[in-house]
Amino acid sequence: MDTNMQNKYTDNRIDSTTSLLNFACTREFLIDYLSQGNVQGTLMMLDIDNLKILNEMLGYFFGDQIIASVAKVLTRTFRNTDIIGRISGDRFAVFMKGEGSHELILHKVNEVCCEIQKIYCGESDLHVSACVGVACYPQHGMNQEELWNHAEEALRQAKECGVNTCKIYETDCVLDILREQQVVKTIGVIDREYESFYNEIAKMTFRLMEDSTNAEHSIQMIMQRIMDYFGFDVIATSLVVPEKLRTLKNVYVVTAKGVCCKQDGERQYSVQRWNQIKLIMEKGHSMFRTYSNDPECREMFPEDAEAQVVSGLHIAMGTKVYSSGLTDFVYIGKEHQWEKREIRLLESFTKILTVYINQLHNFDETAYLAKLMRERDSITGLYSYEMFLTRMKELIAEQTEPIEIVYIYSDFTNFKHINEHYGYNVGNLLLRKFGEMVGKGSDEGFLCAARLHSDNIIVARKNLANLDGEGLVEAINTYNEFATEELRQYGHDNMIGIRTGIFLSKSNEVMVEEAVTNAGYACKKSKEAGSTKAMLFTDKLMEEYRKRLRYISELDVAIRTGQMQVYIQPKTAPNGVNVVGGEALIRWIKPDNQMVFPGDFIPIFEKSGDIITLDYFVYKEVFKYLRNRLDKGLPVVPISINVSKLHLKNDNLKKYLEKLFRDYKMPVELIELELTENVYIENMEQAMDLLCWCKEKNLKIAMDDFGSGYSSLNMLDQVSIDIMKIDKTFLKNDVLQKNECIILEHVVSMADKMNIVTVCEGVETKEQLRFLADIGCNVIQGYYVGRPMTMKDFDRYLEEHFVE
Ligand code: C2E
Ligand code: CA
Ligand code: CA
Repeated sequence: MDTNMQNKYTDNRIDSTTSLLNFACTREFLIDYLSQGNVQGTLMMLDIDNLKILNEMLGYFFGDQIIASVAKVLTRTFRNTDIIGRISGDRFAVFMKGEGSHELILHKVNEVCCEIQKIYCGESDLHVSACVGVACYPQHGMNQEELWNHAEEALRQAKECGVNTCKIYETDCVLDILREQQVVKTIGVIDREYESFYNEIAKMTFRLMEDSTNAEHSIQMIMQRIMDYFGFDVIATSLVVPEKLRTLKNVYVVTAKGVCCKQDGERQYSVQRWNQIKLIMEKGHSMFRTYSNDPECREMFPEDAEAQVVSGLHIAMGTKVYSSGLTDFVYIGKEHQWEKREIRLLESFTKILTVYINQLHNFDETAYLAKLMRERDSITGLYSYEMFLTRMKELIAEQTEPIEIVYIYSDFTNFKHINEHYGYNVGNLLLRKFGEMVGKGSDEGFLCAARLHSDNIIVARKNLANLDGEGLVEAINTYNEFATEELRQYGHDNMIGIRTGIFLSKSNEVMVEEAVTNAGYACKKSKEAGSTKAMLFTDKLMEEYRKRLRYISELDVAIRTGQMQVYIQPKTAPNGVNVVGGEALIRWIKPDNQMVFPGDFIPIFEKSGDIITLDYFVYKEVFKYLRNRLDKGLPVVPISINVSKLHLKNDNLKKYLEKLFRDYKMPVELIELELTENVYIENMEQAMDLLCWCKEKNLKIAMDDFGSGYSSLNMLDQVSIDIMKIDKTFLKNDVLQKNECIILEHVVSMADKMNIVTVCEGVETKEQLRFLADIGCNVIQGYYVGRPMTMKDFDRYLEEHFVE
């Protein structure tokens, strides 16, 4: 058979969703098998309970997943010689070949049903279950058709008894095995006591769906039935009106006296009340106790209701992320203690009803979802930053006394790695799980949570335990360890870690934006420190952060008003007298004449990116300075300029320098570039690119700070630099130590052999100078021969030290 034929053959017989045999094929195989004669076997027919409801509530894609999962359970549980098929949408048939005792059959059914209940059903409280009908060959049917019909009959009867039931066909009585022997335990949410009632309602709802002309009536009937069963006095359902602000509309109010349907009872709530309502929607449910003359209740009650106690339960309609309204179950004139199982049951009903109520009342899901999308982050279900700000401001405004709020700003270490290596799905899953963990609004201290961007999540909590900074760090580290453990289940390796910045706000006056920024800053600091521990935003960080902001905001003015000045430090021949060059070094002279050194602001501008502007300013000043002297016919020496690694990101530096050389008609030998050694190591490729460009232009380039990091002499083989600037740390002692001497001598002689000019920095004493001269160092830079000085002072220096 050629492959084409084979495909065609299999395609017609295999169900594409499950890869099981299809209806026709299952029957054919069964007929085939039975026709062999003298065989035995058991036919099981399995039907997924309420698949239609699951489809409606979870979406058809999810429905398909459930079907595929059930198929997997079947293939796993039965032998591959058994006949397993999907015979209709939610129905499967399995024929177990060979003799089957009741025990074996029960065992198998039990196994299948238990496995099916484990199928993941999204974030819902729903669970998958199935009914099974069994007929044995040849006892219950002498041929395929009879056997099939009787298995179907057993299944029909099983379904009649409710979900999660199995029946074996008996000639005159159908044996209710599962119930009697309690083989299958209902592991779902529904308590055994409520099970048949739940089934009744589920079935009613099912009918309601088939018969949509009567849906309105049926919903009310279902509500009435629930009301009778529990003895409620009122059940009221209200839906969010997406296009209106803070508004709910009553869609059903069913009272014990009868049904009244206030279709257009709309109501707008105060900010405060609305926040409570939203919180209930997020939490899923909330109990309340009040009096019927409470204005908040009036809407719900008949006019003649007297002031009596009201115990009620609000239940959110829909899911946590997407809740379309509330259903209230109310007792009047009676205190009621709500039990967990009761709440769960009512939640299940509400979920089922919600689907139809939304449909019937043309609840504009798209509009509502669009609104939620604006408020919520689609991956984690947490708030957006804007909503976080709004909610937090509202929450703070409601406080009558100052509260301490802890802002916890977290991100993942290695998130980029996870996304790149395992795909965005894994990254998103981790985010979602983490969002779920921290965003649960159910505990007392929780205030609000949002995803800011990428993997950056902010949580605001009350400082209930009144922890101090250290206590908070400890508590959060402990929590992060726990959360990391949890997340490891979903990630593919141990790379995930959580990094956190904490800001403790002690006054209600602190701006939320500022609090988030502070927490974020602490998180960033933790990252910079290479730590995976939580870091508190302290006064010291605050000072640093303020300075940072101040510097960045002051830079432009500082440049324009001459606060930024380019100093030049001379370089001399080994005799320490003859000037051979200079290095441009920036100084910031504040309006109060205080001098700020580059070590204080350059790291800040490197991080903010402003170093580019500053460097360009320095370069231009240097070109201007040299041009001016050249124009006046004064002697000049080459000046070196420092190149930050940020320049390597693109070609702008090259373009800028080319323009300067053109505009100032600058001879190329008068300018030298300095690039620190770690740039050569960390950004090798880009450094090489700049190196090549320099070679092309005949521009000299130096390796700055040689020996301060991990550089090795071997490296000099790979990069063809012109100048090596030996770091000042070699000369940290006034009197040179023996091994320092050895190293220096070796470095200098090695560089010499490679035709690299050596410049020694930080020369402060006569002895150092003498030693360097002895070992053949080419150029001297340091306080001993000259401190960095203003350009005016450098003019004078040149006058005194320049030798033709
Ligand atoms: P660098 O490039 O290694 O500059 C040499 C530093 O050593 C200068 O510090 C200089 O004042 C100092 N120095 C010179 N002689 C001696 C000495 O005998 N003893 C001691 N202890 N120090 C000496 P400065 O001016 O504070 O600059 C620090 C760093 O800031 C520079 O280190 C350079 O990396 C950076 N920098 C300075 N100006 C600029 C600039 O315009 N652009 C860029 N990107 N970086 C700059
Ligand atoms: Ca330098
Ligand atoms: Ca240096």
